[in-house]
Amino acid sequence: MYGGPLFTVVQLMPEGHVTHRNVRLQSAALGLGQPIGVSSPQGRFREGAALLDGRSLEGMEAHGKHLFYHWEGDQRLHIHLGLIGKFQIHRGPAPTPTPNTRLVLRSDAATVFLAGPMICDVITPDEEQAIRDDLGPDPISMPRRGHRFVERLLTKKVAVGAALLDQSVIAGVGNVYRAELLYLSGIYPATPANQLTEEAATALWKLTVVELRRGVELGDILTVKPRDIGVRSRIGLTREEGVYVYNRGDLPCHRCGTLVRLSEVGGRKMWHCPVCQPQSGPMDLPN
Ligand SMILES: [Zn+2]
Repeated sequence: MYGGPLFTVVQLMPEGHVTHRNVRLQSAALGLGQPIGVSSPQGRFREGAALLDGRSLEGMEAHGKHLFYHWEGDQRLHIHLGLIGKFQIHRGPAPTPTPNTRLVLRSDAATVFLAGPMICDVITPDEEQAIRDDLGPDPISMPRRGHRFVERLLTKKVAVGAALLDQSVIAGVGNVYRAELLYLSGIYPATPANQLTEEAATALWKLTVVELRRGVELGDILTVKPRDIGVRSRIGLTREEGVYVYNRGDLPCHRCGTLVRLSEVGGRKMWHCPVCQPQSGPMDLPN
């Protein structure tokens, strides 16, 4: 009997919490250390699937928005969901995959479907290392590497809101988290990154670790403190209810009531509260 997917990623733009949550859920559902059937109904991953089919899955790791599956025989599968990539995990019998399913992983216990990824490739261990070397620290799996984030952030002349999207500065932050993290830090998004103090950058890292780890636990980005919106718990909040500024242009700030402002930073939409995130510091100094 088919009971529907256990877990479906429906958000448009997966951030780092989604990859880490998939590591957790997929490795538990499929089971590590046993042969996995690998196929590509869509056909675009047929050769890679043939190479992996029947091998034992030994482990899974996430680094930012990148997923690495480690297979028997030192083969690696590299996946990046991109903007529209989506996993489905089915325990027990699974439905017939749709024709656009790039990848199917099947064990005795569960089936994983993947559609629409930006990257789905078999790579070597050296290639995995090279990808990782280009990425900044991952706040979820490397919480003690904050010094590397601070070092890299403070060399950037671009807006801090743009630097947070630079995966070589920090791995796993996307458009929702960057807006929320800057709100929670009280930082004006267009502040040049290299004008932050080391203390502010360190505090931003610590906050990022807490927020992204909560995202892994809850499976969604819910940054709002329950008391700020008059509820007792984040459980059951929708994305719209659970954030302070993301996609809340012209709605009142949960803390001060000022209307949240929409702008553009680093070529992407950005929201901030002009009162809670004042444009202060060096940017306001007279010429
Ligand atoms: Zn405010």
